[in-house]
Amino acid sequence: MIHVSGLNKMYATREGNEIHALSDVNFSVADGEFITVVGPSGCGKSTLLKILAGILRRTSGSVEIDGRPIDGPNRQIGVVFQAPVLLPWRTVFENILLPSQLHGAITDANRADARKYLAMVGLAGFEDKYPNELSGGMQQRVGIARALAHDPALLLMDEPFGALDAMTRENMNLDLLRIRAASKKTVLLVTHSIPEAVFLADRVIVMSPRPGRITEILNVDLPAERRLEMINSAPFGEVVSHIRKYFSSQGALDA
Ligand code: ADP
Ligand code: MG
Repeated sequence: MIHVSGLNKMYATREGNEIHALSDVNFSVADGEFITVVGPSGCGKSTLLKILAGILRRTSGSVEIDGRPIDGPNRQIGVVFQAPVLLPWRTVFENILLPSQLHGAITDANRADARKYLAMVGLAGFEDKYPNELSGGMQQRVGIARALAHDPALLLMDEPFGALDAMTRENMNLDLLRIRAASKKTVLLVTHSIPEAVFLADRVIVMSPRPGRITEILNVDLPAERRLEMINSAPFGEVVSHIRKYFSSQGALDA
């Protein structure tokens, strides 16, 4: 479904220097896969996600979705950022319909989808609330429903749970897996949490410190239906400690 090859990204700074953010990134994602990308802060995760979302230009290389190059925002793609950036003067329902509105007029099918995904994220009945009436976790759920509402095949998520407390985060991880199973989406999620990356993924893409390269792509050998107690299992621990060892050898222990 996604095919990335020879991807490079250089940023020009205001001082006239160049920052090499991504270096020769290559990977593919199959339909229906859950892929996580883990790497230390500043390694280019958000850069990669923005290029996939079509909101940032690549310097070189090719990025395709279903065989077509990604050159701009695409209906096939929904994006969830770390902060849900909801419009405070619009209700939950109006916020969720915003991407559909930007892609054209809102249809009855859009409204039905918005209701369906709002229920899927556990917020049925919250249609007419305003963002400031919701907790941080609930606002992020609205962000997820908004990304799903125009029914994209691919969901891109940039550290979507980074701002949440540990317990809310665990619940959101489980809910995300449930939503993904129910909606049959392909998901690519970036995080700097190694356990989160391993818990969620079919495969984990490990990135080096800047300039971000892919150092490894690991299969996670856990049952498709994840349960929290699996974080105590041997296969989980092996993948986590493998990635930790690599990051600590790179001096990126905090990742
Ligand atoms: P991550 O999401 O992994 O923390 P980013 O993709 O945000 O990393 O950033 C990768 C590198 O590129 C960082 O060193 C960052 O400072 C730099 N960078 C990001 N955006 C810009 C920009 N617009 N201009 C210049 N440098 C940038
Ligand atoms: Mg980032």
